[in-house]
Amino acid sequence: MNTAQPRGTAATSAFARRTAVVTGAAGFIGSHLCERLLDLGAKVVGVDNLLTGRLENLSSLRSSEGFGFQTDDVSRPFAVAGPVDFVFHLASPASPLDYARHPLATLKVGAMGTLNTLELAEVKRARFLLASTSEVYGDPLVHPQPERYWGNVNPVGPRSVYDEAKRYAEALTSCFQRSGDASARIVRIFNTYGPRMRADDGRAVPAFIRQALTGEPITVAGDGSQTRSLCFVADTIEGLLAAATAEHTDPVNLGNPHEITMLQLAEEIRALTDSSSTIMFVPLPADDPKRRCPDIASARAHLGWEPTTHLRDGLRQTLDWAEQHFPREAAAAATRRSAP
Ligand code: NAD
Repeated sequence: MNTAQPRGTAATSAFARRTAVVTGAAGFIGSHLCERLLDLGAKVVGVDNLLTGRLENLSSLRSSEGFGFQTDDVSRPFAVAGPVDFVFHLASPASPLDYARHPLATLKVGAMGTLNTLELAEVKRARFLLASTSEVYGDPLVHPQPERYWGNVNPVGPRSVYDEAKRYAEALTSCFQRSGDASARIVRIFNTYGPRMRADDGRAVPAFIRQALTGEPITVAGDGSQTRSLCFVADTIEGLLAAATAEHTDPVNLGNPHEITMLQLAEEIRALTDSSSTIMFVPLPADDPKRRCPDIASARAHLGWEPTTHLRDGLRQTLDWAEQHFPREAAAAATRRSAP
């Protein structure tokens, strides 16, 4: 993992000897968050129904004394024993392929899952943090996107199961915060990448890495001129911790303002892997945002947070991980396909 810490980060001592519940713990970001909280001396209860996550992501933690795991679908009422100080709500399919595969589960976890998790925070008098998304801005008409921009979302398009679920989750969270029923914070995470992304989750970084490593064509949507701003997972985790302990109650963007085109990303990954893959242009998915870049002035001002990992360093760490894990994933997928 990256060892450089993002500049000016959370009062990390706030987590020592505290108990944190993390929903979506077996997922990509959730597993890194659990790991970091344990490093900071917290006790962690991971909750996940393994819809898109994997227990393997928690394998290094499961023997830790401070770590507990429960298999629960948070869209149904669930309980956690004992006192809880922080509730991080990350449970939700997050990649476009995943939420297209699980549309109703995505709507439910944004709605009922967020309500149940807020109620847990209310009962436990714990600080709640919602992992919302830059997708609440839809295909943005304002660039870069500040938190005061309300977005351009198609409420009935294929991405709406995710976008609108998260917008509803934000409304619920704000309602609990305003009424005083729970002390709640919202972060809008922009594209995050790093070790533990699944090779087949459809997001650009693991897809391009898998294609580059196997010599398949790297499939770039459209003409590749659409942009994303990629934040390394270690940076995102420090942002989550900073937001959870901050006094600031409005939603805060967490992302890396360094914007690149998808074609540049494909070329960067091809160069890093020294791959002979060609680049193949494929149709753009419906409602694919053309530009995505966070305005992080609020995160800088209120959380003292900004990302510090250079894209090339983050991609190298992701690549090191993928070189070890993607062949195993491919073998497991082939076994599943050949099973009678
Ligand atoms: P992920 O799919 O790897 O992890 C999500 C986890 O939630 C999985 O382990 C899944 O099994 C679990 N889950 C889903 N539904 C559940 C339910 N009903 N009950 C219990 N567990 C459930 O995705 P991720 O990339 O780690 O994303 C984590 C969170 O961050 C999500 O809420 C996502 O919306 C948000 N986010 C991520 C990104 C990103 O770039 N990765 C960007 C914006 C927002």
